[in-house]
Amino acid sequence: MENQSRDLARLHEEIRACTRCPLHRTRTQAVCGEGNRRARLMLIAQAPGEREDREGRMFIGPSGKIFEELLESAGICREDVYLTNLLKCRLPKNRRPRQDEIRACSAYLKREILLVEPEILVPLGFYAARQVLKLFGVPAPQGREAFKDFYGRLFLAPGVKIFPLPHPSCILHNPTHKPGVLEKYRRLRTLWGNESV
Ligand code: SF4
Repeated sequence: MENQSRDLARLHEEIRACTRCPLHRTRTQAVCGEGNRRARLMLIAQAPGEREDREGRMFIGPSGKIFEELLESAGICREDVYLTNLLKCRLPKNRRPRQDEIRACSAYLKREILLVEPEILVPLGFYAARQVLKLFGVPAPQGREAFKDFYGRLFLAPGVKIFPLPHPSCILHNPTHKPGVLEKYRRLRTLWGNESV
């Protein structure tokens, strides 16, 4: 546990000083993962938003409120899980991430997963979900449309369960998505409460 805390602290230092991709030029600060370092569940969002970039915390902007409501619907507290991003630096004007940026930052995500050793990985949204499935060798469609069927489904990879969910910000963009998204997050309750799923 002591070693894990030390290694995570070291990883966070590296992330804060990182210049591996062009996003370091436009960020205010890199946002490191946070939460329960021994969590069974790790949630992986896409990238920090405007407020997260300013304050250096995960999920504190408008999508943070929705995120907590969705998590609550699954009977899970924010304090119980570990939260991180696929990209640790903000995307200018919230544009889509590029492959070179995803590749560069995934090295940090891999190390975080190895250090926290979660039982369940929950990537949020298309880019995080596609990359996490790829990291674990699970075939996934390249296109956003075909990917929609992957949300709310369980994938078994060596040593870990992967359960992709829509990103909470999709409700901000289109509130009519809320009932469908809530229904998928509620499925997490079964997985969270039943270790044999
Ligand atoms: S997004 Fe990741 S790889 Fe790019 S500068 Fe930030 S921490 Fe480094």
